Amino acid sequence: MTPLMRQYWDIKALHQDKIVLFRMGDFFELFYDDATTAAPLLGITLTQRNKKSSDETPMCGVPHHSIAGHINKLLKLGYKVAICDQVEDPKTAKGIVKRAVTRVLTPGMVYDSDTLEQTQSHYLCSFDEQSLACVDTTTGESFYFENLKTKDVKRLLSLLPIAEVVLPNNSELKTFFMGLVSFCDEGSDVTSRIKAYMQTLGGEQALRVLKPFEKRELQQKLDLSATVLRHLEIFATYKGEGEGSLFYAINRTQTSAGARLLRQWLSFPLINASEINSRQERIEQWMKDAGKLKNVRSILQQMGDIERRLGKIALSQCHARDLQALSQSVKTGLSALRNSFAGSGLESALEKELEDQAQVIEKTFVEEPPLSTKQGHMIRQGVDASLDEMIELSTNSQGLLQKMEAEEKEKTGISSLKIRYNNVFGFYIEITNTHKDKAPAHYMRKQTLTNAERYTTDELAVLEKKVLSAQTRRNELESEIFESVRQNVLKQASAFLRLAQNCSELDIFTALAWLAIERKYTRPEFVQNGLHLKASRHPVVEQTVKKTFIPNDIELDPQGCLLLTGPNMAGKSTIMRQVALTAILAQIGSFVPATIAKLPLFDHLFTRIGASDQLSEGLSTFMVEMTETAEMLKESTARSLVILDEIGRGTSTFDGMSLAQSILEYILKDLKAMTLFATHYHELTKLEGFSQLKNAHMSVSEKNGEIRFLHTLTEGPALKSYGIQVAKLAGLPAKVTERAAKLLQQKENQKRTSTQQLSLLDLEVEEAESYSGGDDVLTVAQHSQDIQNQIQILQEKMDQLNAIREEIKSFSVSSKTPLEAMMKIAQWQETLN
Ligand code: ATP
Repeated sequence: MTPLMRQYWDIKALHQDKIVLFRMGDFFELFYDDATTAAPLLGITLTQRNKKSSDETPMCGVPHHSIAGHINKLLKLGYKVAICDQVEDPKTAKGIVKRAVTRVLTPGMVYDSDTLEQTQSHYLCSFDEQSLACVDTTTGESFYFENLKTKDVKRLLSLLPIAEVVLPNNSELKTFFMGLVSFCDEGSDVTSRIKAYMQTLGGEQALRVLKPFEKRELQQKLDLSATVLRHLEIFATYKGEGEGSLFYAINRTQTSAGARLLRQWLSFPLINASEINSRQERIEQWMKDAGKLKNVRSILQQMGDIERRLGKIALSQCHARDLQALSQSVKTGLSALRNSFAGSGLESALEKELEDQAQVIEKTFVEEPPLSTKQGHMIRQGVDASLDEMIELSTNSQGLLQKMEAEEKEKTGISSLKIRYNNVFGFYIEITNTHKDKAPAHYMRKQTLTNAERYTTDELAVLEKKVLSAQTRRNELESEIFESVRQNVLKQASAFLRLAQNCSELDIFTALAWLAIERKYTRPEFVQNGLHLKASRHPVVEQTVKKTFIPNDIELDPQGCLLLTGPNMAGKSTIMRQVALTAILAQIGSFVPATIAKLPLFDHLFTRIGASDQLSEGLSTFMVEMTETAEMLKESTARSLVILDEIGRGTSTFDGMSLAQSILEYILKDLKAMTLFATHYHELTKLEGFSQLKNAHMSVSEKNGEIRFLHTLTEGPALKSYGIQVAKLAGLPAKVTERAAKLLQQKENQKRTSTQQLSLLDLEVEEAESYSGGDDVLTVAQHSQDIQNQIQILQEKMDQLNAIREEIKSFSVSSKTPLEAMMKIAQWQETLN
């Protein structure tokens, strides 16, 4: 084994669970299994070291300057990465260059936060049965929950954007979390555990910009599970896309930190009316001053991400531009706050400190400093006297060199003579071969090229030493100044983080005010006498639907239940989600899409919507449906909002219908939660004995077999499901829909002959099929009146027939003249006709 490979294996042995990036010159190389694993994931070529020898080594590499993207790709896929750098100068190294692991990165502790989703937090988490703590290592946000129930721990684990969990070695709790679990043995509680892990991986500096752990409570929050957030497409659609979600539709924040805060608000809406009210007040205040609002929003738009920038400054690879970006954001942030109603919200000493820091950065660094902090040219003149001296000397030396070049040209008579510098040979005098004979005797040859000779002189050597030492000293001094500014910033991390917090709050309030104005939202009121929404709209669909969105009025008594029927595509799911989303928006303090909104303060929100398969988790669609329903029935209270869409459809009709009915009865009798229940089981519309149950349907108009969706919520149950017509609209082959229509007809006929009488539903179907009126749909009340009328007419006709039959029977043919008989027959015919 070569010494290099021996060094590699010594390091790899300590980091077997990680992909080791091994610095060699300008590249980071990966060897053996690390190379074969990573090459296809990173889309880079896998090659061999020692090709054709018995010791072929698979390897691949990435240039050191483009390492960030590659590392984050590996972290996103759940790998850990160890960066093994050269820790001594290759020029001065004796033998093989010393290398050591300088940083370990994991999905929870990333290399470059710029490659992450900017509007999303990124947590490293630890938990036990009763508590849970999180740290966002990119922003310093740190918080914990304690005295939790196990189910709350599980809920938080699925609700929070957790990139990695760290647990004590071999903890059995690892089954609680579906993602990456790492182990660490130190720490006595969840927070000190997390900290120990961060320190092990990133050293002391990893903890520098951590905010103190903030205690958070679940008690004062609306209970939303990850399932509900998924069902209601709060952050992503069923397809996993951000566009189409509630967050996407309502996010008007100007900064990434504001957007991250909005995500938090949506995950944890409030249940305390006065807290909600104070958020509403702040939004309304902004709405009343559109000019001020516009101005602050345009300032905020210029502002960078203080939290994440500070996170980068805490890492050794940061550079002067990070400090400049921070200073710019501080100035912009302070200006935005000063233009707001509440001012900066910071103590004046702290505000001054921040201003001073920003000014120091601005005065210290030149415009567009280089990305390296080791090669000078980043500090302005006038910052430090000894640096100025070195700058003077090094730039002056340049002048001296130019002067010397001119003199040598003069002395030798070689006009093409040049004095230049390179890293290997230092300063040299270059003379082309044509003139090399004219080189004076005191010129000492340094290097021979094909078409030129390079020399030095004693005088040049002295100058070289002066220039180089001035430059080296300059570089050192610049690095020192950079480091001291950086350390001062880090010392004030908490001040910067407070400013960031105030700015994200300002951003979220102004964003919600803007949203309310732009989309004509109304301020909701919290009441105890049910739910009353006037001209309510779905916040997402109203922005995406191609035609005009039809607003609806929705009324529900306290503990009321709306049983929704209507054909597919009529808008049942839309209206139910609309109510749930309105409740969530109201409880984060936002205004809502309606003209009047009065609603209760809900404690829980439950949804059972659509068929979300979790086959990978070993659950069938029906099992998922029932598991979610079971959870809902166990947990909901009279203060909860329950949304049930198409319950019981995953099994046979009679099973499903029976389950749906018993679930509905249980909610009505026992839970008394406010409920919206959509179903295709029309039988449920006849459920009796529940005053709080209200039938309603999404209406549809039908003309000559063609249907049109009106999307209006109408009292009373729907008459039929129009499944075949919807299938026709969806483009099913005519052969299929025609056959389906025939089968349906047969089934209806069979049903009729088997019962020997027309049931109400059968009549409804028959009636609705022949119905070709205007755009309105018959309600059941109108419908049964029609049926009664027809029965009455039939009865009258039967009476007439019976009368005629009696007359014929008793007609005495022999006593009548032929004319009289003919007259009677004509009369009967007329009646019959
Ligand atoms: P299914 O029973 O098949 O689930 P559904 O009755 O639940 O159907 P939705 O999915 O709610 O129907 O709505 C179907 C489509 O109708 C929506 O995607 C939307 O485009 C449109 N829609 C729903 N409500 C309205 C409305 N109020 N105004 C305009 N368009 C609407």
